[in-house]
Amino acid sequence: MTSSKLLFRSDGVVLNALPFQDFDLILTVFSLEEGIIKLIVKGAGRSKQKRENITPLTCAEFVYSKGRSELFRSHEISIISHHLKLRQSLGHLEAACDLLHAIQNSQMEQTPAPMVYKLLMWSLDKIPLVPDPNQIAASFRLKLLRHDGLLLLSLHCSECGERGHAIVKGETFCLKHAVGGVIFSDQEFHLLGQLAFLSSLSELDTLVVTQELRKRIERLCQDCWA
Ligand SMILES: [Zn+2]
Repeated sequence: MTSSKLLFRSDGVVLNALPFQDFDLILTVFSLEEGIIKLIVKGAGRSKQKRENITPLTCAEFVYSKGRSELFRSHEISIISHHLKLRQSLGHLEAACDLLHAIQNSQMEQTPAPMVYKLLMWSLDKIPLVPDPNQIAASFRLKLLRHDGLLLLSLHCSECGERGHAIVKGETFCLKHAVGGVIFSDQEFHLLGQLAFLSSLSELDTLVVTQELRKRIERLCQDCWA
C-alpha cells in the first residue's frame, strides 16, 4: 500500500544525521512546513554519495510520508544548498552549528515556526559576510528568545524599577531582586538590545561581541529554555 501513501513536501535544514542499523540514516530536520521532524532515509548507507551528501547544515527539499510513528519516511531529497561557504572557515562553521543547536534546544517537534525558519536562513546566509560570525550567532539567539516570547528586554528591574543588572528567566531585575539568572554590565545591556533588534548588517560594524558576552547569552538561553 506504500504507493497510495500521502506524500508531504517541505524545505528544511538538516540539524543532525545519525547512521542507523546497517544502511539507514535518521535525520533530524528543521522544516519550513512542520518545524522539527525526524526522517528515516532507508538504504542511505548503501550509497556513499548519498551518505556524504546529507550532513548537518544541508538545506534540501524533502518528500516524505507519515506512518504511525513520529519517524517519517523520506522518499526523496533534493539538495538546495550545502552551505559550502560556511564550511570553509572554522569560525563560520562554529557559528552556524551554534544556530542549529539553538534551534534544536528551542523548537518543538512538528510545530511549524516559519518566521524562525526565515530567520535561520537569513542568519546562515549572513555569517560569511560579517566581520565576526559571533555577532550573528548572538543576535540569532536573542531574536529566537524574543520570537518565542521568552525574553522581555528592559533596562529596569521589573520589581522596583531601578536600573537592571541581571536577566532571570527572560525578565530584567536589579541585583537586589535577581535570584539566579545571568548578570550583565550596563554596556552589555545596551548591546543585548542592539543585537536583539538588529535589522541591518551595517549596524554590526560598531558592535563587539566578546567571548564573555557570548557565553552569557548562551547561559541566558539555557535559563530561558529550562
Ligand atoms: Zn529591583
